[in-house]
Amino acid sequence: RQQMARGLPKQKPIPGVKQVIVVASGKGGVGKSTTAVNLALGLMANDMSKSVGLLDADVFGPSIPKLMNLKGNPELSDNNRMIPLTNYGVPCMSMGFLVDDVAPIVWRGLMVMSAIEKLLRQVDWGSLDYLVVDMPPGTGDVQLSITQNIPIAGAVIVSTPQDIALLDARRGAEMFKKVNVPVLGLVQNMSVFQCPKCNHETHIFGSDGARQLADTLGVTFLGDIPLHITIRETSDRGQPVVISSPNSPEAAAYRKVASAV
Ligand code: ADP
Repeated sequence: RQQMARGLPKQKPIPGVKQVIVVASGKGGVGKSTTAVNLALGLMANDMSKSVGLLDADVFGPSIPKLMNLKGNPELSDNNRMIPLTNYGVPCMSMGFLVDDVAPIVWRGLMVMSAIEKLLRQVDWGSLDYLVVDMPPGTGDVQLSITQNIPIAGAVIVSTPQDIALLDARRGAEMFKKVNVPVLGLVQNMSVFQCPKCNHETHIFGSDGARQLADTLGVTFLGDIPLHITIRETSDRGQPVVISSPNSPEAAAYRKVASAV
């Protein structure tokens, strides 16, 4: 690992991709994939001249197919690379397009690496300004090998304001620093719940833990995303909030994060 930290292994850029932004979290279930998808759409909404792609590197639990309402098997291009599936103007690639969605995937270490290798190297992205990568949760070998394989412009770390999630987020931030990937900042997800009936605000997971952590680590605080039923419902429908309710405060929150990145 120390060798990796010194940046010895060769990083090869992905052909046609200008900047890779990875979205990471210390643990699962904090809203990493939801953020990755809405960040990708937010980058496009903020500047329609930009082309944005989404790579689902969470091979254990791919969620991009559902979130982006895509399914099917990618076709091969003339140079034998996989052509991403596209929705809402965003080309996407996911392990979910390559495996049966009900059959369990029993991954062995080497299989995981070759799957990641395939997703990183055998996709024909065309030309992209940004490739947003939904990372697997945590800070293990898979995350490290992704950071070793491709040059990464920066990492966005998603956390809830809860202590336990913050601890893991901190670990994530330290990992990126160690491998010389710039941490673009922290997104605080599920920061506040506003009752749709009475508008009362409740900080279910605490109020500003991620903001404080950003201060402690000396990284940028990229913004707050509220805990809101619209975000959950639109995600479940495969119509992310930035696309389906562009004028909502929730969509604005994601676009704000996209402009801070
Ligand atoms: P992770 O990728 O970190 O495992 P997901 O993005 O899959 O997390 O989110 C976990 C669940 O929480 C999903 O059902 C998602 O719709 C929901 N969710 C994520 N962020 C929010 C939010 N801000 N408000 C409401 N629901 C959310």
